[in-house]
Amino acid sequence: MSFTVAIIGRPNVGKSTLFNRLVGRRLAIVHDMPGVTRDRKAHKAVLAGMEFTVIDTAGLEDTLDDSLEGRMRQQTEAALDEADVTLFLIDARAGVTPLDAHFADVLRRHPTPTILCANKCEGKAGAPGLFESYGLGLGEPVPISAEHGEGMMDLFQALLPFA
Ligand code: GDP
Ligand code: MG
Repeated sequence: MSFTVAIIGRPNVGKSTLFNRLVGRRLAIVHDMPGVTRDRKAHKAVLAGMEFTVIDTAGLEDTLDDSLEGRMRQQTEAALDEADVTLFLIDARAGVTPLDAHFADVLRRHPTPTILCANKCEGKAGAPGLFESYGLGLGEPVPISAEHGEGMMDLFQALLPFA
């Protein structure tokens, strides 16, 4: 029947923006400051008539006194365990960062399939990051703009095998 999609990625790549777009409501707090998502949030989403449950993962709050990578890995793996497929977001405008590469390592080893999404791809500023993201070893990136709603049909196509 319905399937579950986890949105994963380092802070500020646009996870909550995509979550809000997919659920059609402003349920998650979007903020320029990394780590404002307080909890993991799950909600029913619809994309071009395809229904699924989407999970927005929290950022790094409450983790400052702990190992950053360790806590991010915990967050990621908790969401991965609930999900049938992961949308791994990078910020194409920022390019691939060491934290992105760390997430990619975790995701490549995990049995839950990953769809690599290069967010913030509206305009041309994302093009170098988009091409750089091929190097993450997670297959062909899907260029999207969560904020502007671009690439949503490509995202639909990528999710279709899991529906
Ligand atoms: P999160 O920390 O991964 O949940 O990221 P947010 O959804 O809170 O977004 C972080 C910042 O990126 C906010 O300022 C958003 O407005 C911005 N943002 C999100 N999606 C896009 C996009 O597609 N294009 C651009 N240019 N900015 C975006
Ligand atoms: Mg967020």
